[in-house]
Amino acid sequence: MKFGTRLVHFNAAPGDPNHPMVTPIYQTATFEQENADTFGPYDYSRSGNPTRKVLEDQLAALEGGARAFAYSSGMAAISSVTHLLTAGDEILADWDLYGGTSRLFAQVLQRSGVRVVLSDANDLERFAAAITPATKMVYVESPTNPLLRVLDLSGLAKIAHDRGTLLCVDSSAMSPYLQRPLALGADIVIHSGTKFLSGHSDVMAGAVIVAEEALAREMYFLQNAEGTALAPFECFLVLRGLKTLKLRMDAQQRNTRLIASYLKTHPKVASVLYPGDPDHPGYVLQHKQANGAGALISMRLPSAAAAKQLAESLRLFKIAVSFGSVTSTVSIPAAMSHASVAPEHQKTREIPRDLLRLSIGIEDSEDLLADLEEQLTRI
Ligand SMILES: *Cc1c(COP(=O)(O)O)cnc(C)c1O
Repeated sequence: MKFGTRLVHFNAAPGDPNHPMVTPIYQTATFEQENADTFGPYDYSRSGNPTRKVLEDQLAALEGGARAFAYSSGMAAISSVTHLLTAGDEILADWDLYGGTSRLFAQVLQRSGVRVVLSDANDLERFAAAITPATKMVYVESPTNPLLRVLDLSGLAKIAHDRGTLLCVDSSAMSPYLQRPLALGADIVIHSGTKFLSGHSDVMAGAVIVAEEALAREMYFLQNAEGTALAPFECFLVLRGLKTLKLRMDAQQRNTRLIASYLKTHPKVASVLYPGDPDHPGYVLQHKQANGAGALISMRLPSAAAAKQLAESLRLFKIAVSFGSVTSTVSIPAAMSHASVAPEHQKTREIPRDLLRLSIGIEDSEDLLADLEEQLTRI
């Protein structure tokens, strides 16, 4: 079956004698045991829940992984993955990371003695040279957020594996419809399920999908031990959102292509960062390793004041953090999602204050273009 079919045809309620079309919400904390010393498939929802199991199995299938795990947020997913490491271990990460990830890496991991080294993963040779015997994980996003640089995931998998370290890819900006890092050699894929997976800005969720069973056992241990799993109702919402992933992303990408080419020639726009633009330095790589360029556009305005004025005057693009919703949004990453970047990490990364990030929704493109046209003439 092809991807769009698999989004709606899967075992929605394994073992349920009523054969519901939609996965029931098993809103229960505990499950009755037959005897004191025999356990059924479920005993306690922190350890396992049928609604969560359906979501996790579907995510594993869509990403092509051995197993998936659902968490209460994308950050909970990332945090759990970092607990694979112990004191003295290092993470080598690309410097362009989601702001919350930077904060976790800079201000939380050090408490457990895990060091994070940042480098430029666009320069594979230099990046590989930063791997040390202590490096236990290479951590990247592609396309990066918010600068939308494209990283060579197969190349990174090779240098990571040559040095006996894991490659972990945060693929939130793409979703499994557009990019499947495990097939490119990654060991771990992370998603903020709050973004494209659910797609409606109505649920916070995170996911980890792993390539191999040995890693799955470790992740399951952590998910159960730390109690970070996603609650049944939230699992239901992500499962519902996932069914329209292809429809939404096709529509969002169509709008994004139109808007990016409009902005590219607009005299008030200094530059457009969009991996679907043939002039983008990562264009060829993006189309080799992914099935599309996504629905995010970053653009630079002539000044920080112009960026702020445009963000605040657009009517259909709501000012909001996050991305991937059916509703278009605009953000100023330097002041919003990436304001949490720790000072020591700011030295290594520059997010221009004149940078706006647009997340394109499913509205009629004419309305989005008219809104941009009207407000751009005023700045
Ligand atoms: C939003 C986001 C996260 C964090 O996810 P939450 O669901 O907000 O906790 C992680 N990585 C990327 C790339 C994101 O955009």
